[in-house]
Amino acid sequence: PDASALEAGIVGCRACPRLVAWREEVAASKRRAYADQTYWGRPVPGFGVEHPAIMIVGLAPSAHGANRTGRNFTGDRSGDVLFAALHRTGLAKLPISVSRDDGNQLLHTRMSAAVRCAPPDNKPTAAERDTCLPWLVRDLELAWPSLRAVVVLGGFGWQALWPAIAGLVPLPTPLPRFGHGTVVDLDERRRVFGCFHVSPQNVNTGRLTPSMLDEVLTTARTWAGL
Ligand code: SF4
Repeated sequence: PDASALEAGIVGCRACPRLVAWREEVAASKRRAYADQTYWGRPVPGFGVEHPAIMIVGLAPSAHGANRTGRNFTGDRSGDVLFAALHRTGLAKLPISVSRDDGNQLLHTRMSAAVRCAPPDNKPTAAERDTCLPWLVRDLELAWPSLRAVVVLGGFGWQALWPAIAGLVPLPTPLPRFGHGTVVDLDERRRVFGCFHVSPQNVNTGRLTPSMLDEVLTTARTWAGL
């Protein structure tokens, strides 16, 4: 399918009962600060250019971030950190992403995720990851002809990536372990870059600093010839 057909398929998905219930319950109850807003409350499709050189693979929407705004990494602290870095490294038009109609754009880049619906405690199960895998497969298939770099944020996305690309390229054996700064060659054109997740926990503890994030994005960008 093309990107708009894929988006429609993702947004209409109800395959995980626990996540459907949670995303809709959060959307109905809301956080007080957002009481006047209509929550998205559905699966969050990919965001960015249709033929990306760089694909960013995250974990899952947050309850009051992407589950509220309908755009990956938009409207929460993880997103604030990531979009600031994407802007610094020339991969986003604006340094902050607040809503689907804020005018921000990714440049040469597309965002995807291991799981598309907000999970309780930001923790999807392995079964939910497997159920959502076909959407990641299709995102990667659409991106594949132009794709040069996959930046994976965190170990959960790292686990999802390998089965998702298994139909596109021979997998490395053994499968590489996740690590910040880990680089894996998929073929002569494409590389995977591991990066700690931009979660508040990682950022607040200094496990992931802005300069560490910038370095991964800059390395991926340079590899992609941008
Ligand atoms: Fe569908 Fe993925 Fe949401 Fe499960 S997590 S309901 S597979 S979009």
